[in-house]
Amino acid sequence: MRRRTLLSLVLTVSVFLSSGASAQRQPQPSTPKRPRLVLLIVVDQFRYDYLDRFGDLFAANGLRRLLRDGASWSQSNYDHTPTYTAPGHGTIMTGAYPAETGIIGNEWLDRASGTRITSVSDDSRKSLGGGPNEIASSPWRLMASTIGDELRLATNDRSRVIGVSVKDRSAILPAGRHANAAYWFSTVSGNMVSSSYYFEQLPAWVTAFNDAKPADKYFGAKWERLLPEDEYVKRTGPDNPAWEVVAASTGDTSGFPHTITGNAKAPSQPFYWALDSSPFTNDMLVSFAQQAILNERLGQDDDTDVLTVSFSANDYVGHRFGPYSQEVMDVTLRTDRQIATLLDFVDARVGLANTLIAFTADHGVSPIPEHAAALGLGGARVKFTDVMGKIQAAISARYNMQGKVPDPTGDYLLRFSEAGMSREWYVNNNIYFNYDVLRRDGVTIEDLSQVVCMTALTVSGIARCFTRTQLMRGATSITDPIERRVLHGFYPARSGDVVLVADPYKYIAETITATHGSPYSYDTHVPTIIMGVGIKPGQYYEPASPADIAPTLAALLRITPPSNVTGRVLLEAFRK
Ligand SMILES: [Zn+2]
Repeated sequence: MRRRTLLSLVLTVSVFLSSGASAQRQPQPSTPKRPRLVLLIVVDQFRYDYLDRFGDLFAANGLRRLLRDGASWSQSNYDHTPTYTAPGHGTIMTGAYPAETGIIGNEWLDRASGTRITSVSDDSRKSLGGGPNEIASSPWRLMASTIGDELRLATNDRSRVIGVSVKDRSAILPAGRHANAAYWFSTVSGNMVSSSYYFEQLPAWVTAFNDAKPADKYFGAKWERLLPEDEYVKRTGPDNPAWEVVAASTGDTSGFPHTITGNAKAPSQPFYWALDSSPFTNDMLVSFAQQAILNERLGQDDDTDVLTVSFSANDYVGHRFGPYSQEVMDVTLRTDRQIATLLDFVDARVGLANTLIAFTADHGVSPIPEHAAALGLGGARVKFTDVMGKIQAAISARYNMQGKVPDPTGDYLLRFSEAGMSREWYVNNNIYFNYDVLRRDGVTIEDLSQVVCMTALTVSGIARCFTRTQLMRGATSITDPIERRVLHGFYPARSGDVVLVADPYKYIAETITATHGSPYSYDTHVPTIIMGVGIKPGQYYEPASPADIAPTLAALLRITPPSNVTGRVLLEAFRK
């Protein structure tokens, strides 16, 4: 009896003590809520220096707000080449190089079909809203998962993930393979379109958006400068220098104002192409993004949604006028205001406090070669026919010493016919070999690569040459940034057998006024800005890359990082 009493007393006391202890314990901080929305804003062909060169003219609530309330990395570079749209957009939300995503270019040679394909073309799907024979697009060639894919896995698909852009690849790739939808602009139909990869028919709100003919209202629109001309002259020089050449067939001029008709009598494909090269598609895209937020109820609950918005007009304008033009300055200032409109809308609808925002670009751009030449920077266009002519002659001299006719070495390089002409495969500075013919003649890839590279390097303007054997063996130096960037852009099943790199400010086989794709700073140096809960605002000088955005978002969202993440978590901007 006494024992029992004592025991019960001990039990009672211990229960009392333990409950007392638990009453006194500090309440555990509840796991912080995830943001309701991840908003990725990409501007196609936006160099980092635009923030500085034009930044004093930005509005208070656009890019200036991101720079003030977010963390910005001034030493942010892509670490791959070619620096094109699809590889860049493939990298941002996967945190992986093209070597992992498989998105090695906007287009490449598909050896299986012997055809040139785009990064997103998909014969097995139907276009929704496009022209009658328009090829459908989907993310099926993207080899890595995205932030959106991982969020949907983490929330049993309750997260909604949507990508929008004027370009198909720029809408599709950041959203990912398990996205709910991607929408882009068709220059065939003038509609915002999608494909049967996502659903069998367009949602009603998209059809309603298209029924209002959102592109056609810009027919004949005049693009004028936003600000007085002297602001532009001060920062970019005169409006119409000799190196800006806009063909008369476009119905446009090289100087302001630009009239958007595409030389057409009424809205039709030439007009829609012309519209692409104006700032007006960015306005249309902001309206579309707003409709997506409203109709898909993005950011309305605690299962984080993702909206990726990629502005394409900047790239078309940059290609046409170059980075030191009044037009690029103007489209940049307009984009800043368009971003302000989008941010204000997100603030009203979702709350910026509930939104995690990332801002970046897919690549930069080189000065127009003729402009760079005029400045003594060595700008030039290396003729494709010069390079390939010399290479073909060297192949013949090495492997057809008997001078056989017809020359059996004529098809050692893979050829295709375009507009009735047979020409060598040359895409993204990659040269492709014809393996069947090499096998027939007992020529090794390694041996032929040596002949091609040694010859290519004798052509003025060719800086470097890399072979498949070298890149697959990993026989490249990680301390040489050019070698490293080429390796990060090489995906064996899709890349060529030899990769050329031109000298700075030189283009190979390009007729376009200004372009990008190189491993040089003017193409790799782009903004990386992140703003939202958990991020300490400020300017950061640590080396960074748009490939760091995905691992950083994954850490802030507490989800599994995308499958092939190679970027780093940008810890220096995390709140302790
Ligand atoms: Zn681009």
